[in-house]
Amino acid sequence: MKHIKTYIILSLFYGNAPILCMQQQKAQNYITECKTINEEYQSRWKKLIKSTTEDNAAEKMEQSQKELQLHRRHISNEKKIVLFTLKTRYQIHDKVWDTALQIVSELKKYNKKTRLSLSGGAVHDPKMPGSFLAMLKSELVKNGHNPASINLFVTENGCEQTKNGIIQYSLSEGVLSIERKDYGHIGISCFDLKHNYADIPFQKGRCLRLIKWMQKLGIRAIYGALESLVVEDIPPVSIPKKEFTVLNAFDQKKSLYEIALEDKQGAECIKKWCSQVWSEGTEVEDYRRFSDICFHWQSYSWLKKYFSNNYHCIPLALKVKCGDITAVTNLLKSGMVVTQHMIDDEKHDESEVKKLLQEAHKAQRCCICFEHPEDMRDVPCVQRHTGDFMCRKCYKHLDIQQSGCPICERALSSYNSAR
Ligand SMILES: [Zn+2]
Ligand SMILES: [Zn+2]
Repeated sequence: MKHIKTYIILSLFYGNAPILCMQQQKAQNYITECKTINEEYQSRWKKLIKSTTEDNAAEKMEQSQKELQLHRRHISNEKKIVLFTLKTRYQIHDKVWDTALQIVSELKKYNKKTRLSLSGGAVHDPKMPGSFLAMLKSELVKNGHNPASINLFVTENGCEQTKNGIIQYSLSEGVLSIERKDYGHIGISCFDLKHNYADIPFQKGRCLRLIKWMQKLGIRAIYGALESLVVEDIPPVSIPKKEFTVLNAFDQKKSLYEIALEDKQGAECIKKWCSQVWSEGTEVEDYRRFSDICFHWQSYSWLKKYFSNNYHCIPLALKVKCGDITAVTNLLKSGMVVTQHMIDDEKHDESEVKKLLQEAHKAQRCCICFEHPEDMRDVPCVQRHTGDFMCRKCYKHLDIQQSGCPICERALSSYNSAR
């Protein structure tokens, strides 16, 4: 009771101070926990390196990919649940909903493409809506500008102000046009984006409304798309602001996961950023998940680099590189294994060597499972059976090791032994 009283009095005196303290405490705990997770990561990594052998590398690689896939499924399920709740709560018709989803996916593609092709060095005003910026950049390119050399910023009054000249920027019939006077700094009033576009044809207007609505693509974009559809077709649905904020936070977190799951570099960046910055909504559990995602990317790429070479085909691979058809033919005749990797490495699609390799690859198969996995070799037997192969998976079967060579029943040598 005494504690509660003290808290109330403190709140009266310091306003938001107790809340701030609580947040600071939360942030501190988070950062400390992250450090522990990082230490766990290091020891897990050491363990992986120690425990990996040629025999289990392929399984471990497969396992890493499976784990990443599980993370992906998890994220997409969480997203589906949130979207479904939204659809049910506002009783949105299937047709409207599907169209909205389609628009969002198209815009996502557009946004990604634009970002990829137009990543430059200029620092643009963060107040400017991202997707609007993307469209603007694309317009700039069409008009012969390099957006990477132009600093775009938001002005209050709608004037076009530049450092080294004037840029005339106008919107008519929903089409954005820019008249170039000089390079430099361009000021744009985002006020224009708030105009009422009731008289603009629906398709064009929708696009612009979406730009206005979308600060970020994702679930918020669904709202934007719905809003524009709703305005056209059915009476407007009012969405409570509080819910919008909650969904936005959810969406931001999910987009972090999506970046981390896209590639190794993304995962590393997100992990690093999250280990140093705490933002409300990011829990220790999230960091643990980012760390796990990062681990699987890293182990996959490490395993692939050091354990996906098939050492039994190196002499052939060398001759292929030299383009020595006679040597390649002889090695294939003597029963040397071909890998898909080797075929893919041969860049000239029409070359004789490539054709030879492809034919041989088709013909070669493991004498036990009748498949052609990458990790396959000539049967590791003292009696060299030309043209007979065995894969590592089948070799590892106890029955095979006990009964010996499937052709002559002699004891098999080690799978890793040279010919
Ligand atoms: Zn096999
Ligand atoms: Zn044999």
